[in-house]
Amino acid sequence: MGNENKNFLEKISCWYKKHGRTSLPWRKTSNPYEILMAEMMLQKTHAVEQVLPVYKEFLRKYPNVQRLSEAEEIEIKKIICSLGLQNIRSRRFKELGVKLKSQFKSKVPDEYNDLVSLPGVGEYIANAVLCMAFNKKEVMVDANFGRVLGRIFYGKEEYPPSKNKTWKLAKDLIPNNNCRQFNLGIIDLGAIVCKPKSPKCELCPFEEVCIYSIQTKNAIMK
Ligand code: SF4
Repeated sequence: MGNENKNFLEKISCWYKKHGRTSLPWRKTSNPYEILMAEMMLQKTHAVEQVLPVYKEFLRKYPNVQRLSEAEEIEIKKIICSLGLQNIRSRRFKELGVKLKSQFKSKVPDEYNDLVSLPGVGEYIANAVLCMAFNKKEVMVDANFGRVLGRIFYGKEEYPPSKNKTWKLAKDLIPNNNCRQFNLGIIDLGAIVCKPKSPKCELCPFEEVCIYSIQTKNAIMK
């Protein structure tokens, strides 16, 4: 690992430990089912706070695949209705439970191709489960992630960077160990500090090296 990558990792890990959303319940578990259900609920939901009570109630009622596979769709819908898209979500959750039970012995699989074969599971959720539940070296590239890396490494000229460029950057940077902290640190930095419209660069560990921040300061000084 080059010095540049090492510095990046040290900065993001240190920031995440101090400021990251480490107390979220799905961040404190490595249970694949709990992580998968959290990611399914977070998908197309704007506020994490909206998901918290629903997630807790959902796991209380359906603590494992077996219970989810036996659930009535209408009962699932009642619990998750505040998240929106409740018809689609409740159908998917039910299908998910049934498929995990019938094809994966009531376990969440640990292979990418198996994960993306599940209802409602795409590239991001599959990688999130692989990284957070199975400690695999996979990048979790979402909009926050792309924005942070794009601003730091490409600045304003190529903003936002293409999906291919973001993925390449992420794969070059991800460490062999502790990829969970790496992914979640970048995602949280994007959600809390490097916001889409007004990044709070003065609070960011990358302020001095970030091309976007340097360009902004130079533009003000002109
Ligand atoms: S320095 Fe500013 S623009 Fe760059 S990553 Fe940090 S918050 Fe975002």
